[in-house]
Amino acid sequence: MEKLDPRRVDPRGRKVKILATVGPASRSPEMLARLFMAGVDAFRVNMSHGEHADHEATIRAIRAMEKEFHRPIAILADLQGPKLRVGKFKDGQAVIRHSGHFTLDRNPEPGDETRVELPHPELFGLLEKGQRLLINDGKIRLRVIRADENEILCSAEVGGVISDRKGVNVPDAEVPIPALTDKDRKDLAFAIQQGVDWIGLSFVQRPEDLAEARKLMGGYGALCAKIEKPMAVRRLDEIIEQSDGIMVARGDLGVELEPQEVPPLQKKIVNKARMAGKPVIVATQMLESMIESPAPTRAEVSDVANAVYDGADAVMLSAETAAGDWPEEAVTIMHRIARQVERDESYLSRVRFLDTPPDSTTADALAHACMTVADTVNISAITVFTGSGSTARRVARERPSVPMLVLTPSMKTARRLGLLWGAHAVATKDIGSFEEMIAKGKRMALRHGFGEAGSKLIALAGVPFGTPGSTNLMHVVTVTGDELDKYGD
Ligand code: PGA
Ligand code: MN
Repeated sequence: MEKLDPRRVDPRGRKVKILATVGPASRSPEMLARLFMAGVDAFRVNMSHGEHADHEATIRAIRAMEKEFHRPIAILADLQGPKLRVGKFKDGQAVIRHSGHFTLDRNPEPGDETRVELPHPELFGLLEKGQRLLINDGKIRLRVIRADENEILCSAEVGGVISDRKGVNVPDAEVPIPALTDKDRKDLAFAIQQGVDWIGLSFVQRPEDLAEARKLMGGYGALCAKIEKPMAVRRLDEIIEQSDGIMVARGDLGVELEPQEVPPLQKKIVNKARMAGKPVIVATQMLESMIESPAPTRAEVSDVANAVYDGADAVMLSAETAAGDWPEEAVTIMHRIARQVERDESYLSRVRFLDTPPDSTTADALAHACMTVADTVNISAITVFTGSGSTARRVARERPSVPMLVLTPSMKTARRLGLLWGAHAVATKDIGSFEEMIAKGKRMALRHGFGEAGSKLIALAGVPFGTPGSTNLMHVVTVTGDELDKYGD
């Protein structure tokens, strides 16, 4: 298997990023390191499962790995969000008959085949006749016959086995529950205190949900809105506007909508996020069969490949790495698929099928110029000097043909860029002069495998250095090869 040189932030031969969910199958420091070596750029800590102590240990192990491999790694803490669940059953489970009746009520007594508690008061008096309730990832489909303040009587269009605390989706109603539950608030405070880079917000319904999370984040971390509700799709533009990144959360999206509605939506969400220059992650069931099998299905391989052709910033593994039998193999397969697609001569034209005209700013004009220069001249990498990462995002938005080596004095920025297409970040001391910038760009490119003697690089920066929003300088330089001798930071 191709392995990464641990001392280098090399471009890994692909621009799309791999986000892997950590869980019992992968939380040992040894397995985390193997997943990283196999190609993981960012790890997802799923707050829906596990204890804070587990997550703390995971985060500590990832941060230790950053030091060991000299490479910033993004951590996304994914909040469970207002996921609705039924109560418990007398026997732990019950069978709902096809075309039979089933009642959800406010009685905390254990349920049976006729009824169960729905411990969410906000749903009573809200749901109306004809609306759907989907239980256990949509496997059971109920339709409301009659609903009042105490009972929701449903007919089971599709019955099946229902068990304790199974999830409930109510796609037809805007649920007036806060975007963050008490658990989410505690988890968020924990995640911020642990210094994670991204917060994932589940079941976002409205842009206000993001504002609420943002307030609680107090300026720490970047915010990723998970698109998994029809309500969010309706207000997609505003939601993208309010967030730093977007996840196409196909698992719940495919329950709340019809499954066949998901592929066109995936393309629409990816395109809109790309237009905005915000990283977009395609998530869930990408290599699902690899939870149990060391080899994926052809259809799964195509699914990953198509997300890469869509120009997504990142592809995600869920249970495959969190709880599956083949976590390392799943990452390796994903890495190989991405590399193969990106080597396809039609890849760039497919990705650029989406026209992303630059905004009328100097930064965007230069980002666009980086793309066209790299298409015209044989360039090995674009070195981007940035504080906040905004310049890197605008360059990535152009989907240039060559990788970006992002040099930033901010470790926070370097880590966050773990989810950005084509960006490979190094946290390094700030630069003070033009000469220093050029020397450092060459040195870092050589050191990290972004060029060799004779390679041309583009350097993109803003003068005066260290002034946010000042991107105004683009320079093409040739590496001679002896820059490495001046091995400074
Ligand atoms: P989840 O989110 O894994 O937290 O449910 C992703 C999805 O719904 O696709
Ligand atoms: Mn989900």
